[in-house]
Amino acid sequence: MKSNIPFGPVPSRRLGKSLGINNIPPKICTYSCVYCQVGKTYSLSNERKEFYKVEEIKDQVLRKINELNKQKEKIDFLSFVPDGEPTLDINLGKEIEILKDHGIPIAVITNGSLIDRADVRRDLSKANWVSVKIDAVSEKVWKKINRPHPDLSLKDILEGIVKFSKEYKGNLYTETMLIKDINTDKKNIKEIAEFIRTLKIKKAYLSIPTRPPASKSVEVPDEEITNMAYNLFTERNLNTELLIGYSATEFPATKNVSDEILNITSVHPMREEDVKNILDKAGKSWKTVEDLVNKGELKMVNFGKNKFFLRSFKRNI
Ligand code: SF4
Repeated sequence: MKSNIPFGPVPSRRLGKSLGINNIPPKICTYSCVYCQVGKTYSLSNERKEFYKVEEIKDQVLRKINELNKQKEKIDFLSFVPDGEPTLDINLGKEIEILKDHGIPIAVITNGSLIDRADVRRDLSKANWVSVKIDAVSEKVWKKINRPHPDLSLKDILEGIVKFSKEYKGNLYTETMLIKDINTDKKNIKEIAEFIRTLKIKKAYLSIPTRPPASKSVEVPDEEITNMAYNLFTERNLNTELLIGYSATEFPATKNVSDEILNITSVHPMREEDVKNILDKAGKSWKTVEDLVNKGELKMVNFGKNKFFLRSFKRNI
């Protein structure tokens, strides 16, 4: 089969310069998420199998690394982030082992749907960095948002994630996609946060759709909802960060206080008093914030007794 397995490198906020590895042909997945940015799942499968020979993946990836080395381009991560679910690849563990020998850390971004299987956990445990999807902990919401293969069980998946978090020695992250009116009510977000709290993770990411989704009905939650989710997570002592379509390099290190505020609020909503502190330190007045709000770059939202500022979302879907 003719294939382009490595792609990039692409700049990634989480992984720096990441060389992607597409170890699953488009689009084979255990889920058919309403928000999937790869498009519709043509083959909904929960069967682990070989899609490419291990040698083919190795050769293509090493060739690409050599090319990049010649161009003096540094890669921070080799990332299994295919057009489908990476753990469907029965050779994933072998591929990680072989590629790891070349001194670049390995990341896997998985939906976690097969993680109740010991062989999948064993494969994932070889990676240095794993992100697992947790969009729902209730059966009804899970079916609505992730549209799973009918033989999968959410209970087994959640138990598998707990097991993996106990066994895994690398850096584990979670990612929760927020979809308006599907998983964004307070009760649902609280339940997800309570579950994630039981895991041993480095960070919980909250994301929103930033590219056209598989289903036209998908709506991006507004800043108010996203801020609520962020606060419900952080109130439970979860180290939380937003993924709302901005990269860390959007505004490189700068003395410009407006850019600094936009940089921080792309990742963490800021309380009013924290914004004031930054302005005070820079000798700037509140007008700087008013200008950003008026230009539509910054948004003020309320949560509990506090006012928060968030980077306005790019509504490009
Ligand atoms: S798990 Fe990932 S690849 Fe699969 S349908 Fe969902 S978003 Fe798309």
